[in-house]
Amino acid sequence: MATILTANDKPVEGSLVKLDSWQASMKAAIRSSTELLRYVQIDESAGSSEPEADFPVFVPLEYANRMKFGDADDPLLRQVLAVPDELLPGGTTDPVGDTLCVRTGGMLQKYARRVLLISSGTCAVHCRYCFRRHFAYESNAPGKSAWESWTDEIRSDSRIDEVILSGGDPLTLVDESLAELIGRLDSIDHVRRIRIHTRFPVVIPQRVDAALLEWAGKCDAALYFVLHFNHANELDTATVEAMRRLRSSGATLLNQAVLLHGVNDTLEQQKELCVRLVDQQILPYYLHQLDPVQGAMHFDVPDERAKRIHRGLQEQLPGYAVPRLVREIPGELSKSPIQS
Ligand SMILES: *Cc1c(COP(=O)(O)O)cnc(C)c1O
Ligand code: SF4
Repeated sequence: MATILTANDKPVEGSLVKLDSWQASMKAAIRSSTELLRYVQIDESAGSSEPEADFPVFVPLEYANRMKFGDADDPLLRQVLAVPDELLPGGTTDPVGDTLCVRTGGMLQKYARRVLLISSGTCAVHCRYCFRRHFAYESNAPGKSAWESWTDEIRSDSRIDEVILSGGDPLTLVDESLAELIGRLDSIDHVRRIRIHTRFPVVIPQRVDAALLEWAGKCDAALYFVLHFNHANELDTATVEAMRRLRSSGATLLNQAVLLHGVNDTLEQQKELCVRLVDQQILPYYLHQLDPVQGAMHFDVPDERAKRIHRGLQEQLPGYAVPRLVREIPGELSKSPIQS
């Protein structure tokens, strides 16, 4: 683990990749199944390029290096490799009804008191199970031009006391922009909480840099980061260190995971994930049942199995280490709990 690898070196499983900046990591990311399989030393027949036309493969080296090389069943690889199963029928293109709840361009409101901003259409990784893999970011991630109308809309509605930055991944914006956007939101008196939904620090831990900590530390509203770890193997020394830095900003850290067949659908895997998270003072917030999105139905886990896993967590872990098992049903007033 001591060697620091750069993008030009031959890949070595488990070594830490260190590129000059998170932007350099994005540039060096793997962009096809073929390239990914070659990198982790697996026969190219394990992937399929056909689904990539709609939803390209995008995997930073920092993430690929946490995979077990030569293992086609690796739980991290499975989350990001385009496979023939994606062509199976089933699922829809807007499984959670996002397009039905647009309040103004790029601003969604489904639930009381809180709005969600599509602050970026880009991510640091492409997760094959993503419920927004068909989302029309071109028309719904309006960029900086929308900031004025977002802030006006929020300022004019004092019922909104929480703003969620989502995407895509908000941390794909440069810190200068984030500082500006968060500053604007923070200046609205009734905005008491700002929440950032991100998978960025999970895949490229060096994203948590001094510039990020600066705006995070300045935020007067209560700041929450909702991270997205799905498997204990995603927590390596670099991510653990990034979580320590993130905590130092004073923000509260939560995690949401998606229950995925062949990735994390055993009690042992979920237990290890939750324990590793609370060890890092990250509270498991939600465990989501898969949104029925076209191209991802092979990840679906039957409710009975999900409930059994969840009951196991309740029996074996302290209450604060057990996430809520939920599913998103379009039109409901909250995420819907699945009673285990
Ligand atoms: C999931 C979601 C939220 C957040 O829900 P919480 O239960 O508060 O975590 C907010 N807005 C939208 C549109 C969502 O999809
Ligand atoms: S990081 Fe989030 S929004 Fe982006 S592809 Fe993964 S699940 Fe989807």
